[in-house]
Amino acid sequence: MNALSSSTELALFGGEPVRTTLLPYGHQSLTEDDIQAVLDVLRSDWITTGPKIDEFEEAFASYVGAKHAVSFSSGTAALHGAVVAAGVDQGHEVITTPLTFCATANVVLYQQAIPRFADVTPDTLTLDPSEVNRHLSSRTKAIIPVDYAGHPADLEEFLSLAERQGAVVIEDAAHALGACYRGRSVGSVSHMTVFSFHPVKHLTTGEGGMVTTDIDAYARQLRSFRNHGIDLDGRARQRTGQWYYEMTSLGYNYRLTDMACALGLSQLSLLTRNVQRRREIAQCYKDKLGSATGLCLPFSRSDSESSWHLYPVRIDQKYANGKRDEIFRALRAEGIGVNVHYIPVYLHPYYRTRFGERAGLCPIAEKVYTELISLPMFHGMTDQDVNDVVEAVDKVLSHFVAGAC
Ligand SMILES: *Cc1c(COP(=O)(O)O)cnc(C)c1O
Repeated sequence: MNALSSSTELALFGGEPVRTTLLPYGHQSLTEDDIQAVLDVLRSDWITTGPKIDEFEEAFASYVGAKHAVSFSSGTAALHGAVVAAGVDQGHEVITTPLTFCATANVVLYQQAIPRFADVTPDTLTLDPSEVNRHLSSRTKAIIPVDYAGHPADLEEFLSLAERQGAVVIEDAAHALGACYRGRSVGSVSHMTVFSFHPVKHLTTGEGGMVTTDIDAYARQLRSFRNHGIDLDGRARQRTGQWYYEMTSLGYNYRLTDMACALGLSQLSLLTRNVQRRREIAQCYKDKLGSATGLCLPFSRSDSESSWHLYPVRIDQKYANGKRDEIFRALRAEGIGVNVHYIPVYLHPYYRTRFGERAGLCPIAEKVYTELISLPMFHGMTDQDVNDVVEAVDKVLSHFVAGAC
C-alpha cells in the first residue's frame, strides 16, 4: 500500500475511509447515443411491439452466433419462457445449481415442477457434471447450468448428459454475455441460452431478457408464450390487414418494449469494448491482488474466456476462518460496495418452508458461500476506482488476516 494513502486505521473503527462515496459492485453505463436512440422511439409510431424488436433480436442473434433471439420483459421471464418451451410441467424435475440468483430455480416452480439442486465444482463454482449425473432420472426434463460470474459452465458435458435422458439444456447466461466456451460464443452452444438486461449486467434495457436458440420450434413457442399464447403479433396483423388471431396456448404478457429494444440495440454496439474493459479490470485485480495472503481469486479454465459479470473472491478459511462478515463490513465502511453472490437458493426461507430444511445438501456451495465476497466489477469503473478497491482490500486484509503484511 502507498504510504501517502489514507490512514491505516480501518474506517470500521473510526479511521478515514479509502473512499467517501460508495463504489457500487455493479452499475450501468449509458451514452448520449443510447439516450438519443430511446428519444427517437418515443417520437415514432411504435413504442412497443414495433420495428425495434426485430432489429434488436436480429443483431443480438448475430452477435452470439445463434439462429434465433427472442426478447422478453426480463431475464426471469426469458427463463420462464425457456422452461416452458422445454416442456417442463407438473411433476418434472429440473437440475440446477444452488449458487445462483433465486430466479433460476423459481421458474421451475412456476411450472409446478421440482428443482433438484446439484453441487458446484470447487474451481469455477459452476454446476458439477458428475453431481448432475447423480441426480439424473427419467423425470429430468431440463438441466439449467449457470455461467457463474461470467465463466461458462461445462456445457458439452451437460449436453451429452441431457441427450441420454432426452432432457433440454437451458443455460442461464445472465452473467456471461460476451463469454467464450471452447472457441464458441456463449449463446450458440446450449439448446437455449438465457440472458438478462438488468442494469448490473453487460448490456441493459432497464429490465429485459433474451433467449437464443438454433431450434425453430423453441423460437416459435417462445414468441407465442411472451404474447399470451397468440401466434401472430399486432404489427404482423396490421401489415396483412387482418383482425383475426388465435390464442393456441396459455401465455403471458412478457413483451419487451420498442423503447427498451432501441436502448439494447444501441448498447450492443459497445458490448465488445465493454467486455474488454471488464477483462482489463479482472487482469488488474489479478496482478495486484494475486499474491494477497488469505485471498483466493476467481479461477479461469484455459478452454474458456469469462466476460466477468462479477469478480467473486474467497476469503481463505486457513487465514481468516469465519471472518468473511467482518471483512465485508470493513470493506463497506471503506466505501467499497462489496456484495455476496449467492446465498444457496435452497437455504432461503421460502425453499426451507416448502421443501424442508436441507442444510448440507450441497456442501461445496454452502462452504464457498461463507467465503465469498464480490468486489466491484463493471465496465464504467475508472482506473482510480480499481485502485481504490485494491487499496481497501489490502488495508482490510492486513487487519483481519493473520500473517498478512
Ligand atoms: C440477473 C439474473 C437473473 C434474472 O434476470 P432479471 O433480468 O433480473 O429478471 C437470472 N439468473 C441470474 C443468474 C441472474 O444473475
